[in-house]
Amino acid sequence: MRKASIVSIGNELLNGQTLNTNTLYLSERLFAIGIPVVSSYTIGDDIDSIVRMLNLASGDADIVLITGGLGPTDDDLTRQGLAKFLGSELQLQNNLLEKIQSIFASRNRPMPEKNNIQAYIPAGTKAIENIRGTAPGIRAEAEDKLFFVLPGVPSEMKQMFEESVLTELKRFAGEQAIAVLKLKCFGAGESSVAEKLGGLMQRGRNPLINCTVHYGVITLTIIATAKDKVKAQQMAEKDEQTLREILGELIYGTGEQTLAEVVGAKLAQQKKTIAVAESCTGGALAKLLTDTAGASRYFTYGWVTYSNTAKIKELGIKAELIEEDGAVSCRVAEAMAQGARKRAETDFAIGITGIAGPGGGSEQKPVGLVYISIDSGNGCETKRFVFPYGRDFMRLHAAQTALNMLRLKL
Ligand code: ATP
Repeated sequence: MRKASIVSIGNELLNGQTLNTNTLYLSERLFAIGIPVVSSYTIGDDIDSIVRMLNLASGDADIVLITGGLGPTDDDLTRQGLAKFLGSELQLQNNLLEKIQSIFASRNRPMPEKNNIQAYIPAGTKAIENIRGTAPGIRAEAEDKLFFVLPGVPSEMKQMFEESVLTELKRFAGEQAIAVLKLKCFGAGESSVAEKLGGLMQRGRNPLINCTVHYGVITLTIIATAKDKVKAQQMAEKDEQTLREILGELIYGTGEQTLAEVVGAKLAQQKKTIAVAESCTGGALAKLLTDTAGASRYFTYGWVTYSNTAKIKELGIKAELIEEDGAVSCRVAEAMAQGARKRAETDFAIGITGIAGPGGGSEQKPVGLVYISIDSGNGCETKRFVFPYGRDFMRLHAAQTALNMLRLKL
């Protein structure tokens, strides 16, 4: 199987000035044509570092994509680095020089002396046309490995990659294809999902199953590699079926689907409506629900009743109840859901109350404690959780958990 490595060059990538979007772009594009990226290196503008990284990258992979450092200034050293790595000299290419001169002429500007360097490429390599800038790219071959040097400027890099590199890479990759399927899960920790999957997550297995987690949402990525796309897709789908059998209702969706999208689609399909009454989440649940276009079909009201007064005035909660149980309690969460449902006249209403922290916790009611209640017209389902990993985590996790409870009801 042909593999790729990416080398990003530029001091600005190392000092927090520029986000390395080129690697992200190239990785996605390579993946789409069945070439996995097995490593990526980010280095400064330094000839010896470039040589070292090209050695490493070409040790890892058959294709090395290099971006950045093709400009005309003294800190653009990729050409020199590549020449040193290849053991060759930079050579002036008259056709490149004429091209650069004509670019300046078309802009009615004299060509600075410094731009001459852009007409030099290592002997034995080929220039790649840059229709968006003055810096040509470079194509090189060494010991059966392919090297492409592309500009750092993202728009120039993308154009050159799509127009002048992609076709050759597809050919070079030959008969290999990757199919990727993603399953989204909620309601269990990463390690318990991994435990359930057992040997399926073994490294080196084909399909490979990767697991990532973001605010409680677990993404299982199934990556199948085969000789053609159809076979790879079949392998990925077979694994998807196995995962569905093992994980059951923990799986809420596929691809990039969010919990709110899935819940919204179910509400719309069942022609049901929802209102929310939030305290500690401060509107996060309403935000998630209304992030999806078309949410007006099912979302009607959202209250952020942060203070006791707001809970009493807006949702009709009895002051004595708050006094007896405290604002963060099972009965108050229930009363919030009931009050919201009654006032909004919806099929469902969710009440959330909790302690986001960092202060305000006690032994009985620790920071991170949250009660979530769903009133569906025939009683409330109320659950107690503790999400102890900081204010942001607690708030988003609580909102997502409420969505998941509703999903399971629908
Ligand atoms: P130029 O002809 O503009 O000098 P170059 O090939 O020398 O092109 P650089 O000088 O390294 O490229 O970078 C040019 C611009 O592209 C900079 O603004 C830089 O922030 C941006 N850039 C470089 N590399 C990356 C990257 N990996 N991801 C995103 N942006 C990048």
